[in-house]
Order: sequence, then C-alpha cells, then structure tokens
Amino acid sequence: MRPARALIDLNALRHNYHLARELTGARALAVIKADAYGHGAVQCARALQGSADGFAVACIEEALELRYATVRKPILLLEGFFEADELKLIDQHDLWCVVHSAWQIEAIEKTRVNRPLTVWLKLDTGMHRVGLHPAAYRDAYRRLMDSGKVARIVLMSHFSSADEPDSPRNDVQLATFAEASAGLDAPISLCNSPGLLRWPEMALRQRPDDYVRAGLMIYGATPFEFHQEQADRLQPVMTLESKIIAVRELQPGEPVGYGARFVTERPTRVGVVAMGYADGYPRHAPSGTPVSVGGRRSRLIGRVSMDMLTVDLTDLPEAGLGTRVELWGREVPASEVAHHAGSIPYQLFCNLKRVPVIHTGA
Ligand SMILES: *Cc1c(COP(=O)(O)O)cnc(C)c1O
Repeated sequence: MRPARALIDLNALRHNYHLARELTGARALAVIKADAYGHGAVQCARALQGSADGFAVACIEEALELRYATVRKPILLLEGFFEADELKLIDQHDLWCVVHSAWQIEAIEKTRVNRPLTVWLKLDTGMHRVGLHPAAYRDAYRRLMDSGKVARIVLMSHFSSADEPDSPRNDVQLATFAEASAGLDAPISLCNSPGLLRWPEMALRQRPDDYVRAGLMIYGATPFEFHQEQADRLQPVMTLESKIIAVRELQPGEPVGYGARFVTERPTRVGVVAMGYADGYPRHAPSGTPVSVGGRRSRLIGRVSMDMLTVDLTDLPEAGLGTRVELWGREVPASEVAHHAGSIPYQLFCNLKRVPVIHTGA
C-alpha cells in the first residue's frame, strides 16, 4: 500500500481549542469550515462535541453534514444564507446565521420561523469584504430586534490584519466597531486566531459571553510570520507523512526531477518519497524546503511531481528504503513549509487530498 497518509491527533485539537478559550476568557466557536481545514469536519466536531461552545462553517451544506452526523451544538453559518429559501433549513436545524447585507434582513422579516433566530450581525469595520456599513448598523440591529423573528443578536466584525501587530488597520477597525456598536447591549465577536492569540495587546473588551472564532489555531499552526509566545503553546494536529520508496547515488553535476532544475553540487544520495502535489503538497515548494527524514531535518531537492518528491539523504547515511518522512507536523511546522512555498498553512491544510486521513485520540 502507498505509505502516504495524514494523521490527525484529536487530543491536540482539544488542547488547542481549550487554549483559545483560556487565553481570552470568552466563549469560543471552533471554526471547522472547509472540512475542518482538511482535518475532517465530522471527526473534529465529534472530538470537541463535549466541550465546545459551538462550531462555525461557511455554508448550510457544511452545517447539514454536521447535523446529519448528530452534532447538536450551535453551528454558525459564517456567510449566512445565500438564498432566502435556506432560512427554512436554518430554522428547522436550529442553525445560527451571520447577516451581512440588507437583503438578508428583508428576507428574515418575510419568513415565518418556528423558533426565533440567533443572528450574528456583521459590521464592515474596514476590511470591505462583507458586512453592513457602519452608518446602517444600528438601524439593521433595530429592524431585526423589532421583526419578532430574532431572539438574540451577536455583534460581529472581522479583522483584515490581525496577524500584523504593527498594522494601523487593527486600531482603525476597533474604533469603527466601538463607534457603530456604542449602546447596543449584546455579546460581541471580533477575533479570529491571530486576533485572539494577540488579544491582550489588541486591547479588546472581552466578556465571558463574548465569542472568539478559532480556526487555524485549533489545528495547531501559527498564523504569524514571526515568533509569538502564545502560538508556541499550540500542538500541531496534522502530520503529513510518507516513506522513502527509492534511493539513488548521483555524481556532482547530475540533474534531479522535472525540468532538471536542481543539479547536484556534490556526490548526492537522493531519496524518493511517495508524496506529491496530487496529495496537496505544494508544487511551488523550492529546493531547500525542510522535511524530516527518520526524525532528522533534511531538505527537498528538485521539483515536486504529482505523486513523488525527492529529498537529500547525503548527510543521513542511516536513512534508506522505508524510512519515514514527515512533510509537516510536529517535526516540521506547516507554517515553515508554507513560508518556503510562498503560501500559508491555511492553504496547505485545505489542499490536502488523496491521502488516507487517519484520526487518533477520538
Ligand atoms: C474562517 C473564519 C475565521 C477563522 O479564522 P482563523 O484565522 O482560521 O482563526 C473567523 N471568522 C470568520 C468570519 C471566518 O470566515
């Protein structure tokens, strides 16, 4: 059997989730959209079911998958509904939904619901993706409260630059939020992973009934390009691993792989690993990207192919056929691989495919 696989450590997932709550003292939604960033949404939800305050997904399709798998905790639709029709299912399956546009408020006003909704009312504080304009926010809040269809509103916004401590955008967004929401007595939710890992410096008001939205950090990867103390406490959840399936010895001046882009400069022992871009390993990872071979650091050499990649074994004489190779995990942080590949750990995780995904610690 092909040795490539992804191991998912659900104990690490629980550890990271609890860190999100502990850091801020607020409630935390575990963000498990996009199949839990490649980690398996149903398995991750089940692992957190006993302790999580709730979950967040992108759309109703993702929420229903969880409900059908008997996940009963609150589930928030981060983009709300795309068509008014979906409100029936939102009502029926007791989902929470983001409202970010005026047409959604009208749709709620016109819909008959069996049970009043929980709405997360999204304010555009300057990211300019989705959210209501600050000048329209109060009126939107009132209309929803007066509609008789809404039991509870959470005031919500999203940072564009929470991973950049020196960005003036964070203060601008916080000030815009404070002004637009002044006097509205409701829980708030502003922080994603970088925001909540840094929240003491972000000077946020955070009450026990407020919410943070923890995505990347519950999978144990840092969202930062720099060293960050709280992020050091995270435990990687995914280990992407495989084995060496062939070895060759090359003289100096020999090319390796497609395009002959890498040429040996010294006598080189090359290990071929059963892992490629069809598994989600980034094709753009250059020679020099770290890998761990038998527990020792080495580097990628040559271009990544669809099913295989090549690593340098020259300084690892004990490594050979069948030696375990970790592409990312506890030995090689995904954020480090992402940095080399000009990507982000979010994308590496979401791109995972073809490899068997094996959950432990359920
Ligand atoms: C995906 C998402 C998050 C989670 O972000 P992370 O950086 O992964 O923690 C939070 N809020 C919203 C609105 C999102 O879409």
